[in-house]
Amino acid sequence: MAQCERVALKYWQVLDSDGGITNQQMALEFLPALARMVVCGGTHGNELSGVYVVQEMERQRKEKGEGAWPIPVTTVLSNPRAVKECRRYIDTDMNRCFNTATLSSPITDSSPYEVRRAQELNKLMGPKGSKDAADMICDLHNTTSNVGLTLIHYTSSDWVTLHICKYLQARTSQVCFNKLHTEN
Ligand SMILES: [Zn+2]
Repeated sequence: MAQCERVALKYWQVLDSDGGITNQQMALEFLPALARMVVCGGTHGNELSGVYVVQEMERQRKEKGEGAWPIPVTTVLSNPRAVKECRRYIDTDMNRCFNTATLSSPITDSSPYEVRRAQELNKLMGPKGSKDAADMICDLHNTTSNVGLTLIHYTSSDWVTLHICKYLQARTSQVCFNKLHTEN
């Protein structure tokens, strides 16, 4: 098995006509390796955990070279101006800038900084939805809400996301796992 090949345990049930379970099966499923992952910090400039993680990963890359991780990882400081000023954002919330309409809107002199930056990041990590887009983007945030360590994901069917959650749950006492529904 290649070093980066993903393995998932697939589980399914066979139901009879009344919906009763007649058979349960499990099998290993081999998935394609992740080709590219992105770790983002500082999407909100006053949330410093992700900034520190990105800085530490970049330090490790300098020390260990590109083989620091088993797959290629791009590290990104998403909103460097807001990080520098330790503010949530400069002109507008960057979390609201990655929808299709904003990513394709024309840039003018009056375009908010975060919209310009989101379009730059979309070129770097995407384009969103294209075959060249990163396989996984991990965007790190802090919150003052009492939610502990929380993973917010966009799908319940992605095996890698589910395995990351399982890995974290095995190592920390409380990990929330929330599915976020978005339009795009
Ligand atoms: Zn945030």
